[in-house]
Amino acid sequence: MNGGSGKKTYEGQSVTVTFEAGRCRHAAECVRGLPEVFDTARRPWIRPDGATAERLVEVVRRCPSGALRYRLADGGTGP
Ligand code: SF4
Repeated sequence: MNGGSGKKTYEGQSVTVTFEAGRCRHAAECVRGLPEVFDTARRPWIRPDGATAERLVEVVRRCPSGALRYRLADGGTGP
């Protein structure tokens, strides 16, 4: 991932994911949990439309560092 600490936004149709590089502990929960969405070899490395909203939210919630967060198009946020 990149070394900056800025927050980046990855917009999807029903879920928008934000990623704060400075908080990432590289536990790779995201990449292991949902490689269709999280692929560090690709740019952009997060593709929110690569999975269903339910699965995406589930994996974002597993991020142990809080680097990943999500926002639903209908207004829900988390974790
Ligand atoms: S799950 Fe969270 S801490 Fe782990 S690599 Fe992904 S963003 Fe970083």
